[in-house]
Amino acid sequence: MKHPAMNSDDRRKFDALTTRRWRQRLLSWYDHNRRELPWRQDRDPYRVWLSEIMLQQTRVSAVLDHYCRFLRRFPTVQRLAAARESSVLAAWSGLGYYRRARMMHAAAKAIVKQHGGKFPGGIADLRALPGIGRYTAAAIASIVFNAPAAVVDGNVERVLGRVFGAGLAGEPLWQTAEALLSRRRPGDFNQAMMELGAVVCLPRQPRCSICPVFSLCATRGSLQQVKKPIRQNRRDIYYALDRRNSSIFLVQRPKHASLMPGLWELPEIPISSASRPFSLTVRHSITVTDYRVRVMRGPVPVQSRGRWVPKTRIPQLPLTGLARKILRQAQVI
Ligand code: SF4
Repeated sequence: MKHPAMNSDDRRKFDALTTRRWRQRLLSWYDHNRRELPWRQDRDPYRVWLSEIMLQQTRVSAVLDHYCRFLRRFPTVQRLAAARESSVLAAWSGLGYYRRARMMHAAAKAIVKQHGGKFPGGIADLRALPGIGRYTAAAIASIVFNAPAAVVDGNVERVLGRVFGAGLAGEPLWQTAEALLSRRRPGDFNQAMMELGAVVCLPRQPRCSICPVFSLCATRGSLQQVKKPIRQNRRDIYYALDRRNSSIFLVQRPKHASLMPGLWELPEIPISSASRPFSLTVRHSITVTDYRVRVMRGPVPVQSRGRWVPKTRIPQLPLTGLARKILRQAQVI
């Protein structure tokens, strides 16, 4: 479908008047409808950065509690830089993708060491920090420093694909976002684009009847997002939950492990060692695998190398998400 207000030579751009209308409508809708989120209370670069990293691959509702807790523990970039890695990972526990936490920790150290604790405002300096790519640099620069840099995330990609009625990807997608960006309010505009995708232009059922840019949209809901069905694998795994006095036996994953290095978990046991009935079954999914996790109470296999950890110390340890889930279900934490 060809949109009447698009340039005839380019299906990915509006003409100047339509671009102005787009900005006005989107910003006015955002001003009246935006969600009140803790990281929107001010433009503190540390808080904006933390929220952007936490929100990568994680929903807002899942981030809220973690965000507030993390900030209480590490209220400034200096405090984060000075922390031990195990404390940072412990505060990140439950959010998954721990590489993000390690990168943030490394970036905090670089900000303190190379920039005197002040966030750099330029895109190039931001991108030179560990864990900050094109999207995060543009988000921080526009929201905090009012820099004219557009962001593209999954929400923006979906909105633009539907509005222009064309699958957009890669550089053309970024250029389209840049062309629409409000130079006057780039930070609010970027947040408005993402907000529109998050609460109105939903992946399965876009809410076109309440969409502020309905009249500028080429597809108006007719272009559903087609997702390839993902084949989930199923696997059974077995763990031992051994208590002694007020301690639990835990093992630490190797520091060089490719997945969750250095995190603590219950000792895994081979099925051949599972001689007692299972006392707990937990469901857990990681990417494309659904795990049925059976937990056996009682002594761990003799070859397990780990440590007895007092129950009161466990919440401060960086645990794997699965270990946290099991220990919660077993009412240990
Ligand atoms: S009109 Fe519908 S499809 Fe178009 S941007 Fe709005 S919600 Fe998305």
